Amino acid sequence: MFDYLIVGAGFAGSVLAERLATQANKRVLLVDKRTHIGGNAYDNYNEDGILVHKYGPHWFHTNDKGVFDYLSQFTEWRFHYHRVKSYVDGNLLPIPINMDTVNELYGLKLSSPEDVQTFFDTVKVQIDNPKNSEEMVISQVGKDLYDKFFKNYTLKQWEIHPKDLAASVTARIPTRTNRDNRYFTDKYQCMPKYGYTAMFNKMLMSPNISILLNTDYNDIIKEVSYKKMIYTGPIDSFFDYKFGKLPYRTLRFEHETFNQENYQGLQQVNYPNDFDFTRIIEWKHATGQKSNLTTITREYSLLADDHSDKYYPIPREENHALFNKYKAEADKIESVLFCGRLADYKYYNMDQVIARSLSLFKKETV
Ligand code: FAD
Ligand code: UDP
Repeated sequence: MFDYLIVGAGFAGSVLAERLATQANKRVLLVDKRTHIGGNAYDNYNEDGILVHKYGPHWFHTNDKGVFDYLSQFTEWRFHYHRVKSYVDGNLLPIPINMDTVNELYGLKLSSPEDVQTFFDTVKVQIDNPKNSEEMVISQVGKDLYDKFFKNYTLKQWEIHPKDLAASVTARIPTRTNRDNRYFTDKYQCMPKYGYTAMFNKMLMSPNISILLNTDYNDIIKEVSYKKMIYTGPIDSFFDYKFGKLPYRTLRFEHETFNQENYQGLQQVNYPNDFDFTRIIEWKHATGQKSNLTTITREYSLLADDHSDKYYPIPREENHALFNKYKAEADKIESVLFCGRLADYKYYNMDQVIARSLSLFKKETV
């Protein structure tokens, strides 16, 4: 008899399993249909001995000290500022757009944040309340920078015009007037020193946790007895798609290893306007691994079908409305708690999922 059946061994399921097992002495059965723990944050060494993230790049960043302290129980860190460049008009330019981006792109010599702000003020479109992803960008940096850095990247990533995507999508990327070329400004920016999977292994060590991999929970649900379920998979699938399918984006990865130490000089280059892929990741720059070889991954985005891994909920009004129908059903079921990027249908970062799971644990155990 288990106290909890937890579906999904990603961050949501694993944080809840760890807390319930070690802090509330509950017996937990953690089930995942994949062959490993870690969900989309899973990493492993490829055949060339390079540590790669199987489901796309996971750069940890947070301002939440509680989340950082929580994870620090299970890993040491490699502190590292995440940096990204964008390939525009034949040049590799800093993204988020900053002083150097504008100077290099337009051959200017702006030298103070005030100068850069004045530049943005002359090109931006006056919109007080940006209602979609296009308005969000053009209200800050104007049409040309939007066309060069955002429009086509967004079309490739979502196959939806930025006008039809929630403003929150491009709002993830700030605009800077200084020379700060970090992708994020969060206080804590780091990578688990020995990788995410090693960290998950430590989180799930309690003898109160039993793990069943390679198993869809639907296939065992009648055979296990438990008091409560925590579900972190796609919410529409839980309800057998009775209101219709929620759309998700999936990804296709193309990995290549080169017999050289370095390929592109930094961990991520975005390709808004060239090629069919959105970005190229070179893993070693983020993990700090030393090797004479280097592996890169090209990432292609496509609409998920019934057989694909679901990576991104698609933030737009009509999807939110459909999600709310499922949410209303979910709220009626007291014996099942829903949590995570797929169950909440929210474009959460890892730290947001961890914070959400820690607060759900608190609510559950008061
Ligand atoms: P998941 O990790 O998706 O875990 C859900 C698990 O449920 C899966 O393992 C799945 O197999 C399992 N499952 C589903 N249905 C069933 C079933 N029927 N039976 C059994 N098991 C089931 N966040 C950041 O902070 N920084 C980043 O740089 C970053 N980069 C990202 C890049 C990509 C390409 C993606 C897709 C996400 C990225 N994220 C990033 C977000 C991050 O992946 C998520 O916030 C976090 O991993 C979500 O955890 P989760 O547990 O909610 O979901
Ligand atoms: N984006 C863009 N150009 C870029 C980077 C981001 O247009 O060079 C937009 C795009 O719509 C993307 C969103 O901003 O989906 C969020 O970017 P982020 O890097 O946070 O995406 P993720 O890492 O979650 O895929």
